[in-house]
Amino acid sequence: MAEFDIETTISDIKLFIEKLKSDLPEVFTTAESAGQAAAEKQSGKVLYKGDLFDAKVLLDPATEKSKVAFEDNHFLITIKNEQEDIPALIENWLRQDASVYIEARAKEWAAKLGVEYNNIVIKDQRTLWGSCSQKHNINFSYRIIKMPKIIIDYLIVHELAHLIHFNHSNDYWATVSGFMPQYKEHRKWLNDNRYAVMAGIDVKYVPAAKEAKATTEQKSQPEEKIEEANLPNAS
Ligand SMILES: [Zn+2]
Repeated sequence: MAEFDIETTISDIKLFIEKLKSDLPEVFTTAESAGQAAAEKQSGKVLYKGDLFDAKVLLDPATEKSKVAFEDNHFLITIKNEQEDIPALIENWLRQDASVYIEARAKEWAAKLGVEYNNIVIKDQRTLWGSCSQKHNINFSYRIIKMPKIIIDYLIVHELAHLIHFNHSNDYWATVSGFMPQYKEHRKWLNDNRYAVMAGIDVKYVPAAKEAKATTEQKSQPEEKIEEANLPNAS
């Protein structure tokens, strides 16, 4: 792939966020009602299943354990102390959610494709979205839970179709196309939005007294390759 510079990365993320703003203006409403509890402040946004959701951080020293909840279209992160690693808490939540969601979807798609796999493992890999081994084990990066559901489905079908054709031959793509007729658009989406998906989570605790403003835009690290490493070269 061609090289890119950090400006390209940032502009990709901005474009993606601008698009979300036009699609989902309500998510970006920043005015807070005067009656809102002082301790609960909007502290950033989290990309989840293709949408950016408000994340609010609540400091509660009395809570048993710091935790993340997703309800009423926003994330609520309850922290026991101010030193809590909030991005790590959210990543952990996304990872567990990804595991449940992807396994359920993979089960449905496997039945449709008429294939069987051994294990699905959700990993923290940054260089691959997914991979499939000759032993019929499938891995996915937990980060794909940030993508729209149709793209998650495409990635699942992509890997399951390798259980029929262990290559990227024309026959392989014909199989994918049979279940995902728009697969070329999905591949384009992945190419266009990978930096936004790979971007780190930037959610902070904002003490009520301070007017610090959280931002969602952040530099991401370069990603050279998103192909599967475990597959032999198509011949
Ligand atoms: Zn593949």
